[in-house]
Amino acid sequence: MSSSERVVIAGGGLTAARAAESLRGAGFDGEVVVVAEERRLPYERPPLSKGYLQGADASSAVYPLDAAWYRANDVEVRRGAPATALDPGAHTVEVAGETLPYDRLLIATGATPRRFDGPGAGLRGIHHLRRLPDSTRLRTALRSGDRRVALVGGGWIGLEVAAAARGYGNEVTVVMRDEVPLAAAIGPELGARFRALHEARGVRFAAGAAVAAVRGEAGRARAVVLGTGEELDADLVVFGIGAVPDTRLAASGGLELDDGVAADASFRTSAPDVYAAGDVANVWNARLGHRLRVEHWANADASGKLVGRVLAGESVEYDEIPYFFTDQYDLGMEYSGYGELAVGASPVIRGDLDAGDGGEYVAFWQQGDVVVAGMNVNVWDVNQDVQRLIRSRRAVSAAELADPSVPLGALAGPETP
Ligand SMILES: Cc1cc2nc3c(=O)[nH]c(=O)nc-3n(C[C@H](O)[C@H](O)[C@H](O)COP(=O)(O)OP(=O)(O)OC[C@H]3O[C@@H](n4cnc5c(N)ncnc54)[C@H](O)[C@@H]3O)c2cc1C
Repeated sequence: MSSSERVVIAGGGLTAARAAESLRGAGFDGEVVVVAEERRLPYERPPLSKGYLQGADASSAVYPLDAAWYRANDVEVRRGAPATALDPGAHTVEVAGETLPYDRLLIATGATPRRFDGPGAGLRGIHHLRRLPDSTRLRTALRSGDRRVALVGGGWIGLEVAAAARGYGNEVTVVMRDEVPLAAAIGPELGARFRALHEARGVRFAAGAAVAAVRGEAGRARAVVLGTGEELDADLVVFGIGAVPDTRLAASGGLELDDGVAADASFRTSAPDVYAAGDVANVWNARLGHRLRVEHWANADASGKLVGRVLAGESVEYDEIPYFFTDQYDLGMEYSGYGELAVGASPVIRGDLDAGDGGEYVAFWQQGDVVVAGMNVNVWDVNQDVQRLIRSRRAVSAAELADPSVPLGALAGPETP
């Protein structure tokens, strides 16, 4: 598209970085301005609960593109102030008091952590984890190794933080509403496997419990108070209780919101020339027949790349299968598929749930005979086949899925070009 045009990208995460990269990759030679609220170049977050939190990775590991890339590709990054006051009619946003016109705008404002706002919320020692400085603060606090850590929330991030906290030698208790962690994502049977993995490392679980308050002394957290009134000693309390899409910019422009910013399969929002991708976007999904908002790294990566092409003028639609990964202790896992279609289905297991550390297996969830989700634990180089199988919608029997002598690639049928 013509070099006189300006694309503005509001956001400082992986979606923003990939969109800028792919805009240039698609040959867009107009102006590209990234407006990032944080004081740093766009960065990715998985290391914040893994390598960086554990002290294994430097902070430089979080940047998908370095300053030299932005310079070489003539992409301006304005850091330290958010884009506000979107005016879709005038095609402008406000940035630090300046009115910035755009020809096309990408909203990639991500999500913010759901915060504990009950009694004691203001005490020192309470942590939420989303940004690099959050992780730095938590890392500093965990390093002494003598803390009593209460981790509130039995989700992926909570368990990763539990692993990091144990790695430094701290006492760790996970407080969660369900009986097993991850039950909503992978069901009780496999959630129990993750619980056992952590218990073997000395993590305790307070199951079926919710935190009603944090009790402090001299301004510092000392205990979490459960709904039952029971107290658990804790001088460090980490809330991993989910995230909410950051729709402030979109709302200021009156865009249609629906658990995030409503977008079609090409990331178009309800306002002309305004697009949304990544954690903030609720994007039309043809397979499901409704919009789907995905809060995962791979979605930021892939939707960022694709929306960059759309912003450059290409006509493309998004149909990636949701994918995410986790690392806990020595366990590595990848999950692909549509969790909502897998609800209630019992997983079919190929491999050994008891092998090694946390098992070595692929779990499949089916709707009827069709695989709708798959998870490989400590088994590698199968995820592409799992995705092909899901995409193929072929009927396969549980016996074939469970039989390691039947190649997964064969079950998915011939590759489509
Ligand atoms: C600790 C942690 C660990 C994770 N681990 C995994 C994992 O192992 N696997 C996985 O699949 N996913 C993981 N995720 C999820 C993954 O990081 C997110 O899906 C991804 O960060 C989404 O990228 P994004 O660019 O859409 O949004 P974000 O990363 O949230 O970035 C949005 C950015 O936009 C900025 N912003 C907000 N409003 C404005 C505005 N108005 N103007 C300008 N800038 C603005 C924000 O400050 C932020 O920097 C993890 C997330 C966290 C927090």
